Amino acid sequence: MSRARASELAPPNAAPRLDLAGLKGEFPIFEAQGPRFHYLDNAATGQICRAAAAALVDFETRARANVKRGVYRLADEATQAFEEARARIAAYLGAREAREVVITSGTTHALNIAAHTLCARLRPGDEILLSLAEHHANIVPWQLAAARVGAVIRAIPLDAEARLDLDRLTDLVSRKTKVIAVTHCSNVTGALTDLGRIREAAQAVGALFVVDGAQRAPHGPLDVQAMGCDLYALSGHKLFGATGAGALWIRAELAEELPPFLGGGEMIRRVTIERTSFAPAPHRFEAGTPPIGPALAMGAAAAWLAGLDWQAIHAHELALTERLLAGLRAIRGVRPIGPEGLQARAPLVSFVVEGVHPHDVCQLLDMRGVCTRGGHHCAQPLHEALGLEASVRASIALYNEAEDVDALLEGLEDVVRRLA
Ligand code: PMP
Repeated sequence: MSRARASELAPPNAAPRLDLAGLKGEFPIFEAQGPRFHYLDNAATGQICRAAAAALVDFETRARANVKRGVYRLADEATQAFEEARARIAAYLGAREAREVVITSGTTHALNIAAHTLCARLRPGDEILLSLAEHHANIVPWQLAAARVGAVIRAIPLDAEARLDLDRLTDLVSRKTKVIAVTHCSNVTGALTDLGRIREAAQAVGALFVVDGAQRAPHGPLDVQAMGCDLYALSGHKLFGATGAGALWIRAELAEELPPFLGGGEMIRRVTIERTSFAPAPHRFEAGTPPIGPALAMGAAAAWLAGLDWQAIHAHELALTERLLAGLRAIRGVRPIGPEGLQARAPLVSFVVEGVHPHDVCQLLDMRGVCTRGGHHCAQPLHEALGLEASVRASIALYNEAEDVDALLEGLEDVVRRLA
């Protein structure tokens, strides 16, 4: 398995061959939807792979029992399968230990745990540094948690290519900065964040470093230790698993220090009517029945993904991104936003069509079987910084083909002919 590094997703020298038909065959949706189906909304959700679908159905129909509490065989097997899923996610993340992985309902839940537990340690006037490129899931939880303790939110601005302007870090990071929480990959521009520079800034002042990995995780195995972050969040449904599960990796030493977020069953050591002592991590952060089937699906997807040839997939995804960017630039009135080049970007491009609302663009594309997303993509501060209300987003996954990109480009030419 080739593990991607932080300056990742760069084009390899020689593009290895990829069995695209075989890869696509691992996703039942394509058989179900037929040939006129060009799914380019992978940043919203990826399609489920066979391994994940099988794990989900198998659990729900043949092996279902609640976890962590039963003493009979079926419950014990469910618990073992759940813990195995945790270990598979840990391996995909490059974590040292499975217990560093908390199973959540998705990235949003994971970032809410991060914000509420880390902010519990803050004092009035302490600072949390975000960026203008964040998804609302990495803004709103911090605002809610910061308001409770009187902490202050600051934001890294964007540079001319809508990347995080890391030259501003020296002005923004001080001893008051207690947490830095940024996206690994923008869900609007596809820009990958230079985590190394942020890690250095965080370490220089002893701030904790949280990474929203929702958009990076579907593009190959990770290495949280090399990244040097303290917490990392991802969603199983974007990772070609089922909807309903995600994960939060918390560095082991830190996890034991943090208070719980949600309270309830399964996260306790002892409860009296006056007070509760809590279970060790990760169980302390997993109150109630977890999303067992979706967690198993996420684990199966991660294990399947980990065995793929990521050098070949990166080359393929990058070639499609290049085709998409070049095609968009060639259409009059269409303007891609975000980084100009292919370096340090995921296969995801947003754009505007002058004079046409993004929703109209998406509807017309849908008539050709092209699935894209129009709107602010839960990133209003980023759009505001770019002077936009909304944009259209095309996001590529490992199973996409040149025909998908071409169908989008042909559709856009038609949109421009008709409406612009
Ligand atoms: N962060 C980013 C960067 C995202 O793209 C998304 C999903 N669009 C989220 C967080 C939230 O993920 P979820 O809805 O799966 O919780």
